[in-house]
Amino acid sequence: MINQSMAALGNNRSTIRELFEYGNSRAAVVGRENVFDFSIGNPNVPAPDAVRRAILEETAGDPVALHGYTSAQGAADVRRTLADDLNRRFGTDYTGDCLYLTAGAAAALSCAFQAIACPGDEFIVLAPYFPEYKMFIESGAGAKCVVVPPAVQDFQIDFAALAQALNARTKAIVINSPNNPSGAVYSEQTIRRLAGLLAEKEEQYGHPIYLVSDEPYREIIYDGIEAPFVPQYYENTIVCYSYSKSLSLPGERIGYVLVPPQAADSADLYAAVCGAGRALGYVCAPSLFQRVAARCAGQTSDITVYQTNRDLLYNGLTEMGYRCVKPQGAFYLFPQTLEPDDRAFCERAKKYDLLVVPGTDFGAPGHMRISYCVQTETIRRALPLFKKLAEEYGC
Ligand code: PLP
Repeated sequence: MINQSMAALGNNRSTIRELFEYGNSRAAVVGRENVFDFSIGNPNVPAPDAVRRAILEETAGDPVALHGYTSAQGAADVRRTLADDLNRRFGTDYTGDCLYLTAGAAAALSCAFQAIACPGDEFIVLAPYFPEYKMFIESGAGAKCVVVPPAVQDFQIDFAALAQALNARTKAIVINSPNNPSGAVYSEQTIRRLAGLLAEKEEQYGHPIYLVSDEPYREIIYDGIEAPFVPQYYENTIVCYSYSKSLSLPGERIGYVLVPPQAADSADLYAAVCGAGRALGYVCAPSLFQRVAARCAGQTSDITVYQTNRDLLYNGLTEMGYRCVKPQGAFYLFPQTLEPDDRAFCERAKKYDLLVVPGTDFGAPGHMRISYCVQTETIRRALPLFKKLAEEYGC
């Protein structure tokens, strides 16, 4: 006897994975260079040289110590270094005991959700949202996932819709800025307004409402703007971070949960994150990459390439007639599709071997996600194909 809801999750691959596999099969027919795979968010910029040096230095030491178990929540010296780095950048007062190291943001989110979910709880996600949230919340933490529709004019927050979704069962709101898939970065005004609304609702319902801030793209921002550091605006924030994108290390699985001491019941909350990690079997994040993260604290890959790609793609597509909110961060563009049925549009794009993901998958129909973490040359060669596609719609 098998758990059929898990079998369904295993059998029904996400559209992104389907497209990725489809791209591989097309590559065998038309050649890799003729498949324009904009489906997956796998950084194409190499990890900085500091990562290579850190690996060399660490592997030159005692292998037993290096590859052994660390504390369940991560090595104490690593957590201290990462906390110091946050304090230096954001003027905070964290200690290593605020951090729980995880196998990437996916594990961090799963630990955070399971740490706070109680029977009957609701978690609010704001479209467009990372599709795995729903699975982590419902199949993982056993809570209800409530989706608030997108503010399509700028991909900030539709506060009227959010206010309607909040109720006494709301345990947490999940935000993701810079955003996958819209590339929007929440402004200080948006974060302040969100903090104000949640504080008001906490007062009304008489219990904390946690803000889970999913931040794997924290450093990938353009045009000199600054992304507000959310715990400075709202005390009941739990941060989930990952080095997958900032250091181009998605396959190494390293990230953390930050439980600020200002959060309600923070000692209990941190214990619950540790407990969730234990229940999920997520203890002791990869030890070599804990050390690499500490040695590379505060550094990033060369993200200027993403800005070049954003400009090329955004300018090219909008000139052709595609309508799009200009992304200020992450490495995704989220234009409107040229027909309301985004799935039909993305299917039609395949005719030109353009692989883009329907917005419906992110809770925002009528859009497509284009991951531009690809070679700039790939974008240059794809633009004429996007033009041909637009011409089919009379643009
Ligand atoms: N959250 C968002 C918004 C993401 O885009 C991703 C990965 O693409 C994740 C979480 C998961 O990140 P990780 O690979 O670190 O588990």
